[in-house]
Amino acid sequence: MSQPTAALAPRFISHAPGYWATAPTPHWDEWHWQQRNRVTTLAVLDQHLQLTSEERAGVLLAGSKLALAVTPHYFNLIERDNPDCPIRRQVIPRIEEAYDSPYDMADPCGEDSHMPVPGLVHRYPDRVLFLVTDRCASYCRYCTRSRVVSGVGEQELVTDFEEAFRYLEKNTGIRDVLLSGGDALLLSDSRLEAILKRLRGIPHLEFLRIGTRVPIFLPQRITPALCEMLRKYHPLWMSVHVNHPRELTTEVRDALGRLADSGIPLGNQSVLLKGINDNAEVMRDLIHKLLLCRVRPYYLYQCDLIRGSSHLRTSVAKGIEIIETLRGFTSGYAIPQYVIDAPGGGGKVPINPNYVLYHDTEKIVIRNYEGKIFEYPEPIALPVANHHSAELLSA
Ligand SMILES: *Cc1c(COP(=O)(O)O)cnc(C)c1O
Repeated sequence: MSQPTAALAPRFISHAPGYWATAPTPHWDEWHWQQRNRVTTLAVLDQHLQLTSEERAGVLLAGSKLALAVTPHYFNLIERDNPDCPIRRQVIPRIEEAYDSPYDMADPCGEDSHMPVPGLVHRYPDRVLFLVTDRCASYCRYCTRSRVVSGVGEQELVTDFEEAFRYLEKNTGIRDVLLSGGDALLLSDSRLEAILKRLRGIPHLEFLRIGTRVPIFLPQRITPALCEMLRKYHPLWMSVHVNHPRELTTEVRDALGRLADSGIPLGNQSVLLKGINDNAEVMRDLIHKLLLCRVRPYYLYQCDLIRGSSHLRTSVAKGIEIIETLRGFTSGYAIPQYVIDAPGGGGKVPINPNYVLYHDTEKIVIRNYEGKIFEYPEPIALPVANHHSAELLSA
């Protein structure tokens, strides 16, 4: 089959520095500069964007719910003239955040009731979620932990580190610790290393991982020094959070590459978001770009029932439909597991298109990705030993 010979469009585009800085900014590549110069006020937003009235009202509201903060790097990805820009919708507050649907909750995953120690969520038998900070590089408007992050929410995150370490030491059934928050990669190298070193001193903790959006919001933070430190604590895995292919700039790709080169297996956790990535083409582009960055799509989350997020939620039917357009049609490695984190603390439940049409003790009837139907027999019990099989055994 002959292929059209049109030149391939570049998949990764650098966005630094774009309209944020018309003249080169000498400190752009320094993560502390990025942190210090985050967009946090209406006045700075107004300098760079034509805000809609929904956004303007949302920004004023944000101060009492979930802070506004966007790194210059990420802010630079926003399409200035497009209020529906998928980057913009993730980080610029809107007045719809003031609306709580009847199902919305402050703590949709029931974390507070599963904390044996303040800051340590123990919901599954062998693994825990360790909330090590309440700050992120930028704030996602659909944050599942908005009740405790960013410093302006209704609750404060109090993590009792010493008690958490003692709990982990005592509970020998725990083999997996997930550092999250907030974002653990906002801690200094030495603070993060102190935590990792302490965890590595607990012999039954086999598997450490960090859930982080820093490589996407603040790729400058992924310094060679950080990577050198992290690689001492293997096996250390990382889950990043990318929702839209546009977020994978050359800077982000290179930061992810530095992590992968440090031997850190990378997974991605996306949230299915209305008008942002609830679209099969966008999702396919995203997961293919992730593979190019050596990131394995891990989970696709149905958006939690967090207060003020109903404008960003899309239907479960849409999520299933998207997975159905992927399975069989592209690399299995590219396909995330779609999950619902069951409201109230049930944990993550896999949600799959239905490929099983019929199942009894004798057979299962299945369909494949093309809709073709197949029958697969269950194993039949072997006939009881007879004269013939006895002969075979003694031969
Ligand atoms: C998501 C989560 C984990 C990790 O779950 P995996 O399916 O192993 O990735 C652990 N604890 C809590 C409380 C979680 O929400």
